[in-house]
Amino acid sequence: MDNKVAIVTGAGRGIGLGIANKLAKELDMNIVIVDVDEVSMADAVNQIKSIGKEAIAVKCDVSKAADVQSMVAKAFEFGEVDLVVNNAGITRDSMLLKMSEADYDLVLNINLKGIFFICQAVCGRWVSAAKKLAEAAAPAPAGPDAKEVKMEPSFYPKKRIVNISSIVAKGGNIGQANYTASKAGVIAMTKTIAKEMARYNINANCIQPGFIKTPMTDKMPEKVIAKFVAEIPLQRMGLPEDIAGAVKFLSSKDSDYVTGITIEVAGGLNM
Ligand code: NAP
Repeated sequence: MDNKVAIVTGAGRGIGLGIANKLAKELDMNIVIVDVDEVSMADAVNQIKSIGKEAIAVKCDVSKAADVQSMVAKAFEFGEVDLVVNNAGITRDSMLLKMSEADYDLVLNINLKGIFFICQAVCGRWVSAAKKLAEAAAPAPAGPDAKEVKMEPSFYPKKRIVNISSIVAKGGNIGQANYTASKAGVIAMTKTIAKEMARYNINANCIQPGFIKTPMTDKMPEKVIAKFVAEIPLQRMGLPEDIAGAVKFLSSKDSDYVTGITIEVAGGLNM
């Protein structure tokens, strides 16, 4: 098997599944499907295999550090991980004055801390591998005061992180104090990761989806959906493939010189 591997979280369904399919089909990648729902994960693995690529399902609650450590270890055993797409996310909406601390914590823990755990675990492995490559190319002086061998970023193999935020991080959204805070946090954290990791040739970027047709939005009342769609200049809900197209760009050679940015894929919503 070609060993290029992408980890995609929340890939059992919705946007994550659309991303996994596109990366497998159009960037020839093997996929680690990460989710909490085993049934949907098994279906996603079959979809990827039916297009001729390899896939494994790893059950992992991204908000649990131990789950993430074990998932990342399995992914690196599966092949050479080149890309992580942090897509898993939830909503627990209510107005500020009614929002429980439990719902606030749950959303922040999955949507934001989960990305922190995964980026820390994956970048830790990428940076260790990069340091070994540098030492092999220019052996470091031995001894306790020996400094790390420093190379230009382009010396290292390109690695990429794509984090899924939301358009509501931009302007806020009624009933989503927890969700909007988590999604704005994703953007700021991604910029920091981009700055810290650039020296190892690791790019980190974000996508802000608008209003996308998935099981997450299917549960909204039709009247509310119609109201949102009326505000979208392109006059339709987005599809998972619309988001997957932007992920593909940020996962390909075409974006080698792009890091720390956020792409809006929202049909013009909230311009
Ligand atoms: P979705 O249909 O609800 O799918 C999310 C997937 O993530 C589900 O399979 C879910 O599993 C999984 N998941 C939930 N909690 C998890 C956890 N702790 N660890 C691992 N996996 C977990 O959502 P979506 O609409 O595709 O959204 C995907 C991402 O895009 C989210 O980050 C969301 O915030 C963002 N987004 C969506 C929209 C939109 O309009 N749909 C707009 C902007 C941003 P379960 O089903 O078992 O919970």
